[in-house]
Amino acid sequence: MKKATHQQTKQHNRDLVLRTIFSQDPVSRAEIARITHLTRTTVSDVVTSLLSEGLVKEIGLGASIGGKSPILLSVEANSRFLIGLNLAQDKFIGAIVNLRGEIKETVEVEVHDDNGEKALQLVYQILDQLIRKKFKPIVGIGVGAPGLINTLSGVIVSAVNLEWENLPLGNLLQKKYKLPVLVLNDSQATAIGEYVYGNGHKPDENLIVVNVKHGIGAGILINGRLFQGDGGGAGEIGHVVVQENGAVCRCGKLGCLETISSARAVMQQLEMDSLDAVQSAFEAGNSTAKNIIARAGHYLGISLAGLIGTLNIQKIVLTGDMTRFGAPWLESVNASMQNAALTRMSEGTRLDLGALDFRACILGASAFLLLDGYSLLFTEEN
Ligand SMILES: [Zn+2]
Repeated sequence: MKKATHQQTKQHNRDLVLRTIFSQDPVSRAEIARITHLTRTTVSDVVTSLLSEGLVKEIGLGASIGGKSPILLSVEANSRFLIGLNLAQDKFIGAIVNLRGEIKETVEVEVHDDNGEKALQLVYQILDQLIRKKFKPIVGIGVGAPGLINTLSGVIVSAVNLEWENLPLGNLLQKKYKLPVLVLNDSQATAIGEYVYGNGHKPDENLIVVNVKHGIGAGILINGRLFQGDGGGAGEIGHVVVQENGAVCRCGKLGCLETISSARAVMQQLEMDSLDAVQSAFEAGNSTAKNIIARAGHYLGISLAGLIGTLNIQKIVLTGDMTRFGAPWLESVNASMQNAALTRMSEGTRLDLGALDFRACILGASAFLLLDGYSLLFTEEN
């Protein structure tokens, strides 16, 4: 292995300091040195440069631990912006997000039956609009897209309902907008969003976030890191067959979980064309609606039992359209999950509803960009 160049060392130190300020905010220089094991002089030099770029600010004095009180450093939330896209809804949604995950501006376009090149044009349309907004500078684009995705190469391997096959979305956007781009499966992005910005998740914990909408997918975090598996598809539980010779799925197989437990499946079985209509029937006590939703929850619970048996992760968050059916749906999921998994493992598992709805995907895509690549925030002179 080659020795790190001076430039690489400098970059590494800077990453480390910035990451520490993000996670410990507010924090003193001495504390950063203690956490990162860098010398105080190095920390002080990096901080000086971060201050001069306006990425970080001094926010007053912290408590003294003997000697004079330390100056506390905090991230300047609006010094840089990111774009997050959610391409997994029935409309495409894009947003400008600051360094603290606050959404500043949102743009939506209806997707209708657009797919292939037409759907790609809609992505450009959203980005063109967002880039013209007053929030500057934008330092990267994070995309949460449906389907099987190779995050390292930025390629959408297969997104069935958009008819995208081997689409190099990352490269296309990078060339067009001259910005770093990260492409992530939408359920994985949602998991990151809930983890970073949702309710009370601890650093380095294990977490499964299951996103149940027209499709179904899970994002798996192990020790606080997204686990994508060997092919990027870890958590793609929606296309695992749960009913042999069941209904035809849009992936071509018969009886995938999606054909029973997704929002789309529930609408189809009830022959209703909106989820609002389903909800009205459900709330009015329509017994067919209640049965179909209970069955949707039941099969989802069996799939979750599979995840519990494989991963033994005790914290599962459910998010997406189907959560609108609330406690009764959640109870169906929980009952069949408890029933299908080893009791000693499932009884320690907690099911919760997510905190962020569709925004989780947008925030997750942008946060992933930040967490994995603070180097995005580097300015040219570095
Ligand atoms: Zn399928």
